[in-house]
Amino acid sequence: MSRANTHGKPSYSASGHQHKKQFGQNFLNNDGIIRQIVNAIHPQPDQHLVEIGPGEAALTTPLVQQVKRLDIIEIDRDLHQPLRNKLGHYPAFALHQADALSFDYAQLVTDNQPLRLVGNLPYNISSPLIFHLLNYLDSIADMHFMLQKEVVERLTATPGHKAFGRLSVMVQYYCEAELLFIVGPQHFDPPPKVDSAIVRLTPRRPLPYQATHLADFAALVKQSFAMKRKTLRNNLKGWLDDADYAACDIDPSLRAEALAVADFVTLANHYTQKQK
Ligand code: SAM
Repeated sequence: MSRANTHGKPSYSASGHQHKKQFGQNFLNNDGIIRQIVNAIHPQPDQHLVEIGPGEAALTTPLVQQVKRLDIIEIDRDLHQPLRNKLGHYPAFALHQADALSFDYAQLVTDNQPLRLVGNLPYNISSPLIFHLLNYLDSIADMHFMLQKEVVERLTATPGHKAFGRLSVMVQYYCEAELLFIVGPQHFDPPPKVDSAIVRLTPRRPLPYQATHLADFAALVKQSFAMKRKTLRNNLKGWLDDADYAACDIDPSLRAEALAVADFVTLANHYTQKQK
């Protein structure tokens, strides 16, 4: 499902900017919702925020007034000058004309202070962006993102729930994930076709269970969900045999969606050990 506009005609913001579908430009139009998001973020004067996709600064304007530093990352060149005009006089503000999917977030850290990431994210890049951000968790204090509600349900799903999948396991291995509230399509210009939701992701420090080889863990999780309706035994054929499952005390006739994150760590660590 995409966050495509509900109609095919071009749409424009009040300032005359033509919304670009390829950049997922559904801009927030409701001050009450914007306040609710800012309250959930609860910015403090000594904090360093990074906003992905500021658009026309609906969230940026209230945030930049409340923090020590706010870096914004915006891919659409047409928005850069209007953003500078609107925000350039705030000492906290710095604009990066960049693609958030390949951005090096660690370079923004100063004085070892972890970053607070925020954004009403373009839905078409939300999963790859979250996977990219998992590489920078040492530099991140927390993240508050608006995403398609369905994606937030996948991020926060518990085992046994139909939304529980690779994204849930990989994100919940590293982060606590909470759905904060749902936002209807009418609060955006143009309105998307689907509901949105705000998620808070907080890196776990320390990690409650540790994969001994992260690449093995990530590969095994991916393979476990390769065919959603197949059992672990079938999806992981050639990786683990029945003796391995017995050693891990995990039933191979289960589907991956029934396993807890800790079970994937157990299986992956066993697999890593077996390769030695
Ligand atoms: N924050 C604004 C708001 O809430 O009204 C705009 C949100 S809009 C859903 C997504 C924004 O992300 C747009 O401004 C879009 O141009 C920007 N964007 C899309 N892809 C991006 C990328 N790869 N890197 C950085 N910004 C991107």
